Amino acid sequence: MDKEPVFLFVTGGVISSLGKGIAASAIGLLLERQGYPVAMMKLDPYLNIDPGTMSPFQHGEVYVTDDGAETDLDLGHYSRFTHTPLSKISTVSSGQIYEEVLKKERRGDFLGSTVQVIPHVTEEIKRRFRVCAEQLHGFGFVIAEIGGTVGDIESQPFLEAIRQFRYEKGHSCLNVHVTYVPYIKAAGEQKTKPTQHSVQALRQIGIFPDLILCRSETTVGPDERAKISLFCNVPDNSVFDVPDVDLIYDVPIVLHNQNIEGAILQRFGLKEKAVDLSDWQRSSRPSVSTPPVVKIGVVGKYVKHQDAYKSLYESLYHASCKVGCQLKIEKLDPEKIEGEFPSTFKDLDGYLVPGGFGLRGWEGKIATATYCRTSKIPYFGICLGMQVLAVEFAREVLGLQDANSTEINAQTLHPVISLLSEQKEVANLGGTMRLGAYPCKLHEASLAFQAYGSHTISERHRHRYEFNSKYLADFCKKGAHITGTSPDGSLCEVIEVTNHPWMLGAQFHPEFKSKPTAPHPLFVAFLQASLDNAQAKTGKLK
Ligand code: GLN
Repeated sequence: MDKEPVFLFVTGGVISSLGKGIAASAIGLLLERQGYPVAMMKLDPYLNIDPGTMSPFQHGEVYVTDDGAETDLDLGHYSRFTHTPLSKISTVSSGQIYEEVLKKERRGDFLGSTVQVIPHVTEEIKRRFRVCAEQLHGFGFVIAEIGGTVGDIESQPFLEAIRQFRYEKGHSCLNVHVTYVPYIKAAGEQKTKPTQHSVQALRQIGIFPDLILCRSETTVGPDERAKISLFCNVPDNSVFDVPDVDLIYDVPIVLHNQNIEGAILQRFGLKEKAVDLSDWQRSSRPSVSTPPVVKIGVVGKYVKHQDAYKSLYESLYHASCKVGCQLKIEKLDPEKIEGEFPSTFKDLDGYLVPGGFGLRGWEGKIATATYCRTSKIPYFGICLGMQVLAVEFAREVLGLQDANSTEINAQTLHPVISLLSEQKEVANLGGTMRLGAYPCKLHEASLAFQAYGSHTISERHRHRYEFNSKYLADFCKKGAHITGTSPDGSLCEVIEVTNHPWMLGAQFHPEFKSKPTAPHPLFVAFLQASLDNAQAKTGKLK
């Protein structure tokens, strides 16, 4: 097939947080099921080069790709729903666009012209669309999601680039507008006017939506959809009802039931085939009908922000479907745990300490590790959580009371966690951590090997500090083993505490690779151990 790829541009109207990323991912999944490859990308209007330097309170999770891009969390949705390639190509910010244009200007590439938003900035944006399409190596769909809401000043260059692109490409583009239809309680009605206004704002820029996805708390009925169709100039079979659902993995089903993929394929003269999504539905639900409850405590300083540990919560959920349990997550603020571990938390079945940075909540995380180690409760430490495991072990088992990470106390007498050697000269914060996928060798007699069933794995990293190998022999002697290392053995990637049902720390971030159809082995093993613990407590086992 030498047909040109099709470009779907996904914009948002009325308000943010409508779940554009999930809608885009669901469309991606449905097109893949029709046999077409998809390449997804996110364009964010902010001026930061990437979200790596932003607070998780502002931006939510930073998702990391194999090639080390620090990206928006929507890429996590893309990877969980589809098989899209994800890399530096898949993530674009205004900051990156301007940086590139200004670099060219300094080099003199523009040969004396006045450098302007149109055409120079818009050309660079359009170039990114084309670079993303090259990954398809032929026909397929590029799905480009534009962050923010139509009407925002800062997203205008992106929208203008889409307008130009469509003008140039003619029929190989489609605009998908995700909008909000509020229910006004006092009037007892759903209101379509905000949608009409946001479509008007799009049309002013010269973009005419082809499909409209109506997000709402409840169903958007046929009358409202007919109104939207009429006022927005979109055929009524192209206005879709996307109400809130309990499970985000049901969004593809909601759209499939209205045959969105048929509406898309028809536009391009492509044949639609019957597909069965029951495997997808099965994989995103617990595998047994009355699953036992497993309660997991997530101890992190950003727990109040629901998106700060997005991939991690999703990975726990995927694992719970596989293990066959009903997951209850208790979000615990480590600043409230300092000192003695409060008894109210003691009925949880397993604890997870996620990645993080800085001093705040550190001692509460250490207290969590002490509690799990001494009470033999499953503990899973990810990145900073692994470093917590190591420091706690050094303090309480090796008796090195001052042990610490030099990130927390640079003057510590026992720097069990210290700066990676390549980090010592690093001055800039942005994009300078040990980032992306690295291979890791696993020891055969380990929980990690049991979980992965493989000697070599590849996982993604995002950190500056590492386990200090000076302490390796002492750790081993006292029952904490380094069971995963870099191929040359120099960097510790996994630590496990023996004489404990399941206490494991990983320097990498396994949560970035879990999918409903492929739950991550470490999360599955951790949840299985937590389920065993829950059942032992209620006397159902042993
Ligand atoms: N702050 C720690 C480091 O830089 C851990 C980072 C993380 O958890 N992602 O090594």
